[in-house]
Amino acid sequence: MARDQGILIGLDKNTGELKTIDRVVSGKACNCVCPECRSQLVARKGRQKAHHYAHASLPDNLRNCQETALHLSAKIIAAHVVQFLSLPGRSFGVKSTSKIITPSGDRSCRYRTVTIEAEEPERLSGRVEPLVPEISPYRPDARVDTTSGSFYVEIRVTHPVPPEKQQAMDRANIPVVELDFSKVSRAGLTIEEMEVLVASAAPRSWLSFGCDELSIPAVSKLNAEVEAEDSRLHQLMMEQLRVDLRPALAEQVRIKSLHLKLGDHAIPVSGFLSLSNIQFKSGFTLADLPGVPNALVVSVDESWLVNRLFAWHQSEKGRPLTVISLSALGSHLATVYSSETDFLKRLLCHMHKNDLNIPAPILRAEVINRKFPMELETPITKEFLFNMGDRVYASSSISGYAAHALVKYRFYDVAIGFEDGNRRAVVSEDIAKQLSHKRPNGGIRETLIHNIQMGQPCLVRFVPSIDEKLKGDLFDWLVVYRGEIFLNVPDLGRERVYCNRGDFWKKGGLLIYPDPMRRGDFHLEASRDFLGKL
Ligand SMILES: [Zn+2]
Repeated sequence: MARDQGILIGLDKNTGELKTIDRVVSGKACNCVCPECRSQLVARKGRQKAHHYAHASLPDNLRNCQETALHLSAKIIAAHVVQFLSLPGRSFGVKSTSKIITPSGDRSCRYRTVTIEAEEPERLSGRVEPLVPEISPYRPDARVDTTSGSFYVEIRVTHPVPPEKQQAMDRANIPVVELDFSKVSRAGLTIEEMEVLVASAAPRSWLSFGCDELSIPAVSKLNAEVEAEDSRLHQLMMEQLRVDLRPALAEQVRIKSLHLKLGDHAIPVSGFLSLSNIQFKSGFTLADLPGVPNALVVSVDESWLVNRLFAWHQSEKGRPLTVISLSALGSHLATVYSSETDFLKRLLCHMHKNDLNIPAPILRAEVINRKFPMELETPITKEFLFNMGDRVYASSSISGYAAHALVKYRFYDVAIGFEDGNRRAVVSEDIAKQLSHKRPNGGIRETLIHNIQMGQPCLVRFVPSIDEKLKGDLFDWLVVYRGEIFLNVPDLGRERVYCNRGDFWKKGGLLIYPDPMRRGDFHLEASRDFLGKL
């Protein structure tokens, strides 16, 4: 049979106060009931055994009564009795704000810890908690204020703290220390032994660190340390990069394909670029690209090395850097990373000189920077492109998407790429506006030039129709050359077309004039000289 020992606390029948055995008189005069089963207790304060309460008549579940009593006495002693309370050390995890870039290009999320040493602060005051609103509906057993700050106490007698309660503590961000009495023998305990257990002997651990006057400065200090460590590691990484680069380059490398990277957007383009003036300087390999002196050159197969360098660099604002990554020496493939948009533009300008070849006279353009894609009504002519100079990028190898990106990121006002085998121009909204203003003003000459350049046929009839081969619609034979209109007749070559009868009489050739009967149609009249050639 279980011995009715180890109960060190009773509930005063009159006041409802919890009383430890040392605070009551011996026998039934203690006037207490069991806090668990509420039956009469007798204080046993003899000389042989440890002072304790015993039930006047043995309860059905003595074990429950003992557990409850142990729990209650421990928290009352913690809150009201002990002078010093031993606290375990605390280890705080601090997330590194690392500058180290992982192979995937992410910043690494390393954890470091800081430990606040175990200590034994003086208990200043304490209370047994009826309810703590911050972590309601869960209730720690006591709150203790010490010379090291305030915290909560959990007394574990049987079960560990359930996960919901643990989560509630974590959310409330309060420090909670657990005193573990689960291994403590319930029988034969004295009040003095109990005090020692509570103060220091019972195993203890932090259930939740919380934020308090101790932890905050410790975590700040750790943050500073982590920062310093990261900076040191970054330096090491850069040193390693220099070592990796050094033997990597031959005297000169031709790059066939470039992959320009701007932020998250890659713009693949191709062209021939020479690296020149390759030099090893301060441990770095540097080379000149057209328009870009001293670009950093790397030659590793793994682009992550560059990626992380680039990513790191991007994070350091205001220090533009260009990195050329050769995928392998001799493969003539390179990736150029740069945070300097001007450089990318210069590079593309250089490249398009090798690549600007637009045989088709007219391109229909797509306007970007609008909510919905739209086709530009006015097609873009070769002449227009010529006049745009460096503001146009044309390539036989970039995709429509890349052309789009070039305009979108304001490298160019007009970019021409390929899509499904067709040439496609993309223009900015500003250019779209300018083009839409280039409508003919109503004069014969302007209207015709516009129609010819924009490929908008109109009916042009030869009058008088004396030759079979000049019958019918002549529009397709009209061309614009240096701003003037010509009839490009097979076998005869270019013949000047005038819009003014005075010029026609003086200079001969051909005269074009509006058909008086049909609006939008034209008549082509030949001079005697021209007719003579037919
Ligand atoms: Zn009981």
